[in-house]
Amino acid sequence: MKFSEFDFSPEIMEGLDAMGFETPSPVQELSIPNIIAKKDMIVCAQTGTGKTAAYLLPVMDQIQKNQIEGFSTLILVPTRELAMQIDQQMEGFGYFVSITSLSVYGGGDSSVWDQQKKGLMEGADVVIATPGRMISHLNLGYVDTSKLKHLILDEADRMLDMGFFDDLMQIVSFLPKERQNLMFSATMPPKIRELAEEILVEPESINI
Ligand code: AMP
Repeated sequence: MKFSEFDFSPEIMEGLDAMGFETPSPVQELSIPNIIAKKDMIVCAQTGTGKTAAYLLPVMDQIQKNQIEGFSTLILVPTRELAMQIDQQMEGFGYFVSITSLSVYGGGDSSVWDQQKKGLMEGADVVIATPGRMISHLNLGYVDTSKLKHLILDEADRMLDMGFFDDLMQIVSFLPKERQNLMFSATMPPKIRELAEEILVEPESINI
């Protein structure tokens, strides 16, 4: 299979070329068509399988094709390191498109907070956030979530291990009810199934 079979916009295809991606990995081959079809998904996949590009590519393609502006995609992650890695991949794919991304994580001095606040108020297209810090910003009321279309939980099992269940549910309460939900997790313990039942609607399930 080739990336060209997904009908991505020319700008995304150029980004793939620039990143040196030639063929989709199994998780990409199985996830991308479902994400394009706007389905909810629960995907069991480890780091290193290409899971990040599996959701970034179709989501970025939809933002590009539909010329969506403003905060449309929230990616929740357990750690600052993962947020930064995802942001880097986005920059690679997004070299030829004008999609803005913002990482939001805890720690740092007040200048970090101010930068995050500014990016959120300006309506970055894609926000990659750790749950605790995202709640702090949401509670202060200056994040406009009304146009949000995609919620992605990456390494969901690690977020639950870190005790973020209630934080995740609180974040979801700020989001529009009509949205696409994608959950990625390396393991599928009962607590993940519980979270999936709370958040996902008739999800397609994939196990890599
Ligand atoms: P991930 O599992 O998302 O952490 O990705 C692991 C690594 O594989 C990252 O460095 C990606 O840039 C790379 N990668 C993901 N998908 C592909 C692909 N289809 N072709 C080549 N490299 C890829």
